Amino acid sequence: MAVATAAVVIRTLHRIQRQLTDLRGRLAAGPRQIAAQTGRLTAAESARTQLAESLRLARKKVDDKQLQLRSSEAKITDLEAKRNTAKTNREYQLLGEQIDADRAAIRVLEDEILEALEGVDAITAEQPAADKQVNEASATLDSLKQRISDEAAQLEQDVAHVTKQLEQAEADLTDDVRELYHRVVKHKGEDGMATSESGCCGGCHQQLTGKLLSQLLAGNVAMCRSCGRLLYEPDLPS
Ligand SMILES: [Zn+2]
Repeated sequence: MAVATAAVVIRTLHRIQRQLTDLRGRLAAGPRQIAAQTGRLTAAESARTQLAESLRLARKKVDDKQLQLRSSEAKITDLEAKRNTAKTNREYQLLGEQIDADRAAIRVLEDEILEALEGVDAITAEQPAADKQVNEASATLDSLKQRISDEAAQLEQDVAHVTKQLEQAEADLTDDVRELYHRVVKHKGEDGMATSESGCCGGCHQQLTGKLLSQLLAGNVAMCRSCGRLLYEPDLPS
């Protein structure tokens, strides 16, 4: 078996490093999705709580006004009793005016009570939708957590598998290239490597020198002088 050129080994390592980045990115996406859905559930719960509070206040408004109504009615009953025992026409007349004014106020209050009751009905009608939102958000969160947990188990297996492949491929590096490789990967990860593309660095797109290009075409690797990426020629036979 022919000894693999540095370019072929680095190409393999670059591919494996990209796979690892992809797998780790997918692993990291899970908790972010869960956090987003948890936020939606919290918002739905908060909307439901606010609605319940609005309902409490609307009912209190009805109760307060009904209490006020009963007290006004009791006051009229008192005034009527006083009027029945009025000693002068003037007193009788004044009490009558007071009673008329209070009755007018009661009619206003009755309208207000009807309006407040309509408010209670309107809020009550909104409750099923608010409950539904909470239940749906909660169910979605549960199934998302399950799916992400299943996927994470698989992704972790894949990471372990690909990491092993990486270690095996790294064993093929010659000492001089190994040092360059570890240095770029340490600083930039997979982005520390790039192919040469039409005579340019595939990372920073700077034109490469003729000397560098012939080095690459011979199956060697080289550092891009402008971005420091470890370059290799992608189309060499394995
Ligand atoms: Zn470059």
